[in-house]
Amino acid sequence: MSTHLIALGALASALVILPATSSAQTTYIHAGALWDGTGSNIQREMTIVVEGGLVQSVSRGFQQPGADDVLVDLSDKTVLPGLIDLHVHIESETAPNSTLNRFTLDPADIAFNSAVNARRTLEAGFTTIRELGGTGVNIALRDAINQNKVAGPRIITVGKSLATTGGHADPTNGWRSDLMGEPTPAEGVINSPAQAREAVRQQYKNGADHIKITATGGVLSVAANGQNPQFMQDELEAVVETARDYGMHVAAHAHGKEGMLRAIRAGVHTIEHGTYMDDEVMAAMVEHGTWYIPTISAGKYVAEQAEIEGYYHPLVVPKAREIGPLIQDTMGRAYRYGVKIAFGTDASVFPHAQNAREFAYMVEAGMPEDTALLSATSIAAEVLGMQSQIGSIEAGKSADIIAVQDNPLNNIETLQNVQFVMKQGIVYVN
Ligand SMILES: [Zn+2]
Repeated sequence: MSTHLIALGALASALVILPATSSAQTTYIHAGALWDGTGSNIQREMTIVVEGGLVQSVSRGFQQPGADDVLVDLSDKTVLPGLIDLHVHIESETAPNSTLNRFTLDPADIAFNSAVNARRTLEAGFTTIRELGGTGVNIALRDAINQNKVAGPRIITVGKSLATTGGHADPTNGWRSDLMGEPTPAEGVINSPAQAREAVRQQYKNGADHIKITATGGVLSVAANGQNPQFMQDELEAVVETARDYGMHVAAHAHGKEGMLRAIRAGVHTIEHGTYMDDEVMAAMVEHGTWYIPTISAGKYVAEQAEIEGYYHPLVVPKAREIGPLIQDTMGRAYRYGVKIAFGTDASVFPHAQNAREFAYMVEAGMPEDTALLSATSIAAEVLGMQSQIGSIEAGKSADIIAVQDNPLNNIETLQNVQFVMKQGIVYVN
């Protein structure tokens, strides 16, 4: 089959939803083993009753469904809450020379690509993602998924990232000078506290749920420095204070120490990547209660791709080689220090649907399996302020339920092969 036909097939499956169950029926799930995300141990032979998209009850033994009910037999599997990835870019995906995409893809192209990526992410067991910045098409995708027009994870989105001129998320970095123009706060580029307020309010108006800033340089932007601070203290404070007025939190991409310290002092909610975090930064994070979202997967992937001639822009290659391999060690140190860590991968920097590799990397860095799993379930829900709705399998919460073959507490890699996915009571993989 040509790649064209494969792409069309993937597109068709992304847009047509044929749920095995509708959310109107009552579904009985027989779980051979259940890890419910509350922090308790694995329980054997449990029944989860799902109705109206919500978990109705969780009880011991295999309860038998009534004549009109649906039985889902997962009696030889381990059942878990749907996974949550706090750092995804659903609109795009790594490819050679992808900086050209800004000149070749229309918003409609991005929308179709996003729908495919969303379906793959859901089928990999991730029932909720925090989208950390694209063109803004992700806002329409969030709404289409919420209306069940498109299959995908629940999306909590920042819309577009905010940057300063030439900063990591300045959309015209590396362009020919006559094309660059002067991006404005409406396009996510700010250069004063007043513009910071304007940009936050614009994202709110556009429909974003939260705000993302690029507090330091980054690896994949066409720019020389991957870690310098890129916001002044007063600009950061203006972003955080304005976001707070709208009930939005601020996620800060940061690799270098100074930019991280400024962002933490300003009160950002999460630090993304955190590569050059040292004891001083970790102490500040503990003091301010700042969450750390490591994205080890992205670091490892870019370091590998940097060795492929021509894959990245020449300005990107040395940054990917230097910064990429450090993140896993940083995560291990942050965990031992006592920094609050939640699960995020930066999927798009590596292929979508490989999000669960992050679990193995976290365990390799010294985090116990159950802590890694909590970081992608109840803890990630807490970061989103959604702990009453998602993150564990309990009565009254959304029926976001997955299953894997093995016990992930003994074999964390089993999460890379999810065999059952239900989101809000609708089955997408069985
Ligand atoms: Zn990212």
